[in-house]
Amino acid sequence: MARTVLVTGGNRGIGLAIAQAFAKQGDRVAITHRGSGAPDGLFGVQCDITDAAAVDAAFTTVENELGPVEVLVANAGITQDTLLLRMSEEQFTDVVDTNLTGSFRCAKRAASKMLRARWGRIIFISSVVGLYGSPGQVNYAASKAGLVGMARSITRELGSRNITANVVAPGFVETDMTAVLPEATQAEYQKSIPLGRMAKAEEVAGTVTFLASDAAGYITGAVIPVDGGLGMGH
Ligand code: NDP
Repeated sequence: MARTVLVTGGNRGIGLAIAQAFAKQGDRVAITHRGSGAPDGLFGVQCDITDAAAVDAAFTTVENELGPVEVLVANAGITQDTLLLRMSEEQFTDVVDTNLTGSFRCAKRAASKMLRARWGRIIFISSVVGLYGSPGQVNYAASKAGLVGMARSITRELGSRNITANVVAPGFVETDMTAVLPEATQAEYQKSIPLGRMAKAEEVAGTVTFLASDAAGYITGAVIPVDGGLGMGH
């Protein structure tokens, strides 16, 4: 059955691969962007997830055009890497405001309609570093670990209404976010990944579409790694 899907940050990178995977299977897909416009074939809404009013307006537009959001993929995220002692409070709160509070704003707005429909799928895109830790990413790792507590609390609050909330924790994925890392750092990371390579965004997308599918109807509150073995046991 075709569903209405909203992917935040679906204009590029992992979000775009996720949006395209849903579109390919026949779902009605909307993406948020911050001014770039929507890629071909996808319905775009302009939205900065740090602004609750913009999030509300984006959902209202999607509801009017495609119907209530049944599958939310909270994917939009940023990094502002630096070591703890150099990290300003602003660098910490900016990353948390986008990655964690932004996901909260979207999940809350989505949940009201999912409750009414008594069906919903919420998928948070976290990161292996949320539970593994990463030097220079105190802000980012804290925001991504927070998504696990958020998903599990939503699971306990809304599970009885047939709403699932899961976390996907990718390792290193070939996107703009990792392209900015120095080559030596990228090579260093690759050495620590059992599969010996970075992921393609499409490999994350496959897990996300699975979690939204009927086959995954009994999976909730889970953290699914897509990390080439990097985070095993974390
Ligand atoms: P990119 O940097 O390629 O894309 C980030 C996306 O998030 C863009 O669409 C961007 O929009 C959007 N975004 C950022 N801030 C906001 C905001 N305030 N409001 C709305 N949209 C925003 O990242 P990736 O595709 O690599 O990452 C996607 C997700 O996956 C992120 O949450 C990231 O933390 C996570 N992840 C990535 C990994 C990787 O190795 N790449 C590994 C593990 C997790 P715009 O185009 O307007 O800037």
